[in-house]
Amino acid sequence: MNILIYPDPGLYRPALPVDRIGPAERKLCERMLEKLYQARGIGLSAPQVGVSVRVAVLDLNTPELGRNPLVLINPVITHREGEIIWEEGCLSIPGFRSETKRSEEVRVRAQNPEGREIEIVGRNLLAVVIQHELDHFDGKLLIDRAGRLKKNLYLRKLKKMHRDRS
Ligand SMILES: [Zn+2]
Repeated sequence: MNILIYPDPGLYRPALPVDRIGPAERKLCERMLEKLYQARGIGLSAPQVGVSVRVAVLDLNTPELGRNPLVLINPVITHREGEIIWEEGCLSIPGFRSETKRSEEVRVRAQNPEGREIEIVGRNLLAVVIQHELDHFDGKLLIDRAGRLKKNLYLRKLKKMHRDRS
């Protein structure tokens, strides 16, 4: 399992809902969590590992605090409140950071890996990460939300990175 890197077309493929949660789906969640910890990220969506389904894994804890994974299958935001601007990064867009406007609080309905319905309320960073991961389901990337200038700067940086490597 590898994390797709921008501009991989897989990142733009729309993700389908999971209609049955079985062993294969639970395995996917486990492997995504492993990948998340390995990459030292705080959120990862299935489209980022080339699987176009609506599954996301999150963990806001730092290693010192231990693990506190949250797995969201078919998450839907049912309520939003407030506004917040956060400087976000993305595991699929290495070296890119951008201030993005989000809802400050979101209420989310989803299923967990056991297939049970769960409801969570996320505020601040948790709300930001949830909205970021859900955007991936619709092929919405941080870099495409940023201004053209910022995007062009990054594309130039990418080219230079490739040049220096070869
Ligand atoms: Zn991302």
